[in-house]
Amino acid sequence: MQTGGPALPQQRSLVTEIPGPESMARLDRKKAHVADGVGTTLPVFVVAAGGGVLLDVDGNSLIDLGSGIAVTSVGNAAPGVVSRVQEQVAAFTHTCFMVTPYDGYVDVCEQLAELTPGDHAKKSALFNSGAEAVENAVKIARVATGRDAVAVFDHAYHGRTNLTMAMTAKNMPYKNGFGPFAGEVYRAPMSYPLRDGLSGPEAAARAIDVLEKQVGADNLACVAIEPIQGEGGFVVPAPGFLPALAAWAREHGVLLLADEIQTGFCRTGDWFACDDEGVVPDLVTLAKGLAGGLPLAAVTGRAELMDAVHVGGLGGTYGGNPVACAAGLGAIEEMRSHDLVGRARELGAVLERRLRALAETHPVIADVRGRGAMMAIELCEPGTTTPDAARTAAVSSACHRAGVVTLTCGTWGNVIRFLPPLAISDALLEEALDVVAEAFAATA
Ligand SMILES: *Cc1c(COP(=O)(O)O)cnc(C)c1O
Repeated sequence: MQTGGPALPQQRSLVTEIPGPESMARLDRKKAHVADGVGTTLPVFVVAAGGGVLLDVDGNSLIDLGSGIAVTSVGNAAPGVVSRVQEQVAAFTHTCFMVTPYDGYVDVCEQLAELTPGDHAKKSALFNSGAEAVENAVKIARVATGRDAVAVFDHAYHGRTNLTMAMTAKNMPYKNGFGPFAGEVYRAPMSYPLRDGLSGPEAAARAIDVLEKQVGADNLACVAIEPIQGEGGFVVPAPGFLPALAAWAREHGVLLLADEIQTGFCRTGDWFACDDEGVVPDLVTLAKGLAGGLPLAAVTGRAELMDAVHVGGLGGTYGGNPVACAAGLGAIEEMRSHDLVGRARELGAVLERRLRALAETHPVIADVRGRGAMMAIELCEPGTTTPDAARTAAVSSACHRAGVVTLTCGTWGNVIRFLPPLAISDALLEEALDVVAEAFAATA
């Protein structure tokens, strides 16, 4: 078996077309055995990955600008993750923490209390997926406040389970045909500077007005918000939006639930995106970057809120699996020892410089936005805010053919997002952005 991790040659090298013949053959097997509903962005079958590259079955080495959707921030098969996982998997693989506990789970919760925003007393509960964490955060908010309603925002993405589908904004592909959805979920307008031109406080006042008039603050258990939206298009709210929303929520006993599943763990150049404006949420949901690729998610919150739930009310068979916890501890150790907060800022500076230069020559790029190693470009018909999804898809697939894994997102599918592993080298990132520039030129 091919070994991955940082020892893999850090290069883009194509020996076949993308996808190559071996991947194409496997795609036929996928078609035969895997439900069509499980889509594929770029059908190269991977045999190893590490640093900033993915190696496929045809021997192609591709540059990774997606990190498996903001998951492998510490790099794929990162040494600190691999060694702890190997040790744990050889010791024991599962007991169910609710049956007989183990240290790894408690160690992860201790780390989360230290790292997440705010210096109040915190506790955590661990789960398997982001959606499961969001569902549980809502359960906790409802019990702690005795209220039912949940506020979410336009363009929000919170997952694919029934409650989180209700919280997610976009119909296709996430919701279409899957209703009826959970009730008591209300949507407010998001601050979207490119499209609304409002300052943060103005956009917050608009959202608060909708919530007060259509729901009533006294009915709201929580306001759930991604501090920078992920799937919805890397929408960065205008400065002052989150603090104003947080102040209003606090004043009315509405809990602020920050969904940091995509933004968390160094991605934005802070440990958490809320840190940028010093916003301290009551509850935080975490997953993706937390455990270097193993399934681990968490709700971390004010101790008294977390403890409002009766014994046995939170849990699940696999939540906080010992192998996933070992991976989480290894990943956090990698983040600390390699200063990945600082590294995300450096990568963000490279991304911003290159993307702004690209926007000057290609007026189809209406906006360059994001923070740290979470940057995006939004494509619109030049001089307008009319989304150009066709060009977005064309640029992205040109990147794929040239051996760079890019992802798109956004309500209109017109955003290309950049989520490189924080373990990528400057040289490899620059090369990938050369490819992106060539893809814009070739599709003009
Ligand atoms: C990915 C994501 C989720 C859902 O996480 P899963 O692990 O896919 O269930 C929820 N919220 C945000 C902000 C996300 O980016």
